[in-house]
Amino acid sequence: MPSTNFTLLLHGGSGRLYPAGTPFPQEAEYHRTLTAAAQAGFAVLAEGGSSLTAVETSLRLLEDSPLFNAGRGSVFSHAGLNEMDAALMDGATLQAGAVAGVRTVRNPISAARAVLERSAHVLLTGAGADQFAAEMGLETAPPEWFRTEERWQQFQALQAAAASSSAPTTKYGTVGAVALDQAGQLAAGTSTGGMLNKQYGRVGDSPIIGAGTYANHVCAVSGTGHGEFFLRHTVAHDIAALMEYRGLSVEAAAHLVIHEKVAPAGGKGGVIALDGHGRVAMPHSTEGLFWAYVSADGRTGTNVCNMIVE
Ligand code: ASP
Repeated sequence: MPSTNFTLLLHGGSGRLYPAGTPFPQEAEYHRTLTAAAQAGFAVLAEGGSSLTAVETSLRLLEDSPLFNAGRGSVFSHAGLNEMDAALMDGATLQAGAVAGVRTVRNPISAARAVLERSAHVLLTGAGADQFAAEMGLETAPPEWFRTEERWQQFQALQAAAASSSAPTTKYGTVGAVALDQAGQLAAGTSTGGMLNKQYGRVGDSPIIGAGTYANHVCAVSGTGHGEFFLRHTVAHDIAALMEYRGLSVEAAAHLVIHEKVAPAGGKGGVIALDGHGRVAMPHSTEGLFWAYVSADGRTGTNVCNMIVE
């Protein structure tokens, strides 16, 4: 059904970047970047473009920004590397593409799109995924592109403080987007550097269809937070299933999964979710969630909070 409520909603991670009471030096820049990314994706929808392209457009901008834990600005793994995950799903066709542990493709979300459209597979990992992206003609980037001084200092501080412990630490700042286009079709995408200090080729929920990313004909969902919990609770698909099989609204379904399932189990995080009527939900159990959205019915907003790295 054609939609007059075409909408682009994105997130820039959950939690807080700085301890409570600490000035938030880049607040205006976060605000500007989130707003610009939401408007760029919305412009695609306004011109009649697909929700898939709108999601990819917004996420490429956030990946290229050093402010977020995705693409440029990704956190460092235990080995001191930037290893990125991304997924993109088309709700109308259930086509999906994802990459995990990529290190050389500049925009992992575009690599996910290439997997969706130009491969026979859903998820490619590591060097093979980077090779595929390069063979598809996607832009590559050297390690220096992804590395930011701020993330490196975070990593160094963690190494120094936890020299005796090799447990991964949760550092949030993932990006995700969901969109409803004029044709009434939904799409979802998520891109991340994963968790700071992750080891052994750890992959989180973001590139796993049904966990951190999912879209079908009833809703589109992108998650952010402690990935292991989102994996165990198949968060994104659970929200879609509650809507499809139980008739819950997007708000009720997303709230139930985040606050009544994942949070009691110990998993902190949040989702952005969008239904086929342009209704949005953004529940989170962390202290905050960065988000921005633009809707054809005039609704718009941006939220930047004092995120903390726990
Ligand atoms: N969910 C991501 C992961 O576990 C992290 C995040 O959302 O920041 O890889």
